Amino acid sequence: MRWEEWLRPDVRRMEPYTPIVPFEVLSERLGRRPEEIVKLDANENPYGPSPLVRERLARYPFYHIYPDPQQEQLRSALADYVSVPADQILPGHGADELIDLICRVFLVPGDVVINAPPTFGMYEFDAALSMGRVVHVWRDTTFQVDVEGIRRAVEEVNARENGRVKLVFLTSPNNPDGGLLSPEALRTLLSLPVVVVVDEAYIEFAGQPSFAPWVLEHDNLIVLRTFSKWAGIAGLRLGYGIFPAWLMPHLWRFKQPYNVNVAATVAGLAALEDREYYAWTTAALVRERDRLYRELARFPFLHPYPSHANFVLCRVESADAQELTQWLNQQGILVRHFRKPRLENCIRVSAGKPTHTDALLDALRRYARERQTWPPTPSSVKEE
Ligand SMILES: *Cc1c(COP(=O)(O)O)cnc(C)c1O
Repeated sequence: MRWEEWLRPDVRRMEPYTPIVPFEVLSERLGRRPEEIVKLDANENPYGPSPLVRERLARYPFYHIYPDPQQEQLRSALADYVSVPADQILPGHGADELIDLICRVFLVPGDVVINAPPTFGMYEFDAALSMGRVVHVWRDTTFQVDVEGIRRAVEEVNARENGRVKLVFLTSPNNPDGGLLSPEALRTLLSLPVVVVVDEAYIEFAGQPSFAPWVLEHDNLIVLRTFSKWAGIAGLRLGYGIFPAWLMPHLWRFKQPYNVNVAATVAGLAALEDREYYAWTTAALVRERDRLYRELARFPFLHPYPSHANFVLCRVESADAQELTQWLNQQGILVRHFRKPRLENCIRVSAGKPTHTDALLDALRRYARERQTWPPTPSSVKEE
């Protein structure tokens, strides 16, 4: 029996999974202790969860009891936090789970999802898992959403015999550039016959109001949020969506009852309580992001983009971004390198603690001296 033939054909055709090196393994490979590694590659929060979160987790007495499938307590605390009624909020195992849930609840094979790359990769991935077809409407060179292009794409696909655009995924601030979606752009997109999903994973760093309250006035808007970035609990997996009222009963029927575990719930509740700690760490990360931007801009071979999130995208101009990333890696500094259109020769650097920025800047100066790209010498100028 060739068991593989029992699999869904689209599953067999999927690209092979490339595993990432676990942090502990990497640390061993680099011969450095985990605490010594400057990890600026995944937009995690280096301050971690607040002391109150740690304490509540340590003292929680009911880990042997199943979680509350309705997440009543968490939803009511979230309602307070985002100013939307609790019955329009659904927590998930990270925002990632909700992206998958949205795709599964809306898509039948062949339905179209509009993606606006360069952006977060999960929309495309989850749409494909649900056998959706992905139409890319590329952002412009400053990473602004092409609103007119999306309108045209919706029209064209819907005009075709068997075409149906159901979902548009947008990210604000966008990952990897940190740019915002404007209220005007969102208003225009909401007038189209599509469900618009706005992923606000980084909204706490944006200094801008969330679009969450808009869900109360638009039946075709979903807003996704997460605790992974601002609350420093990416490893515990806790996100949530704000959904139009008509959709909620369907999501309740569809979701796994125990999708949010007890530890994530305890941590999330405590994080929402400890506003003071998080106001401080968020402000510290925003300060560090702005400093990172200014300092990176001083290197003639780097071109950073202004960001409203906890990271800075940076084009490498007279060096090879992949080689630079590997070189930093060897110094125990992890940044993210992209191999995608529109992100050619780009790296993304997360905002860390001030000492992390210091270490990165020191390393970049050493790199520049070694490669003689900075200060620019006559020969390196000529090469450009
Ligand atoms: C990190 C990230 C997420 C993931 O959120 P989780 O709650 O950790 O699943 C979602 N969207 C964007 C744009 C992100 O960058």
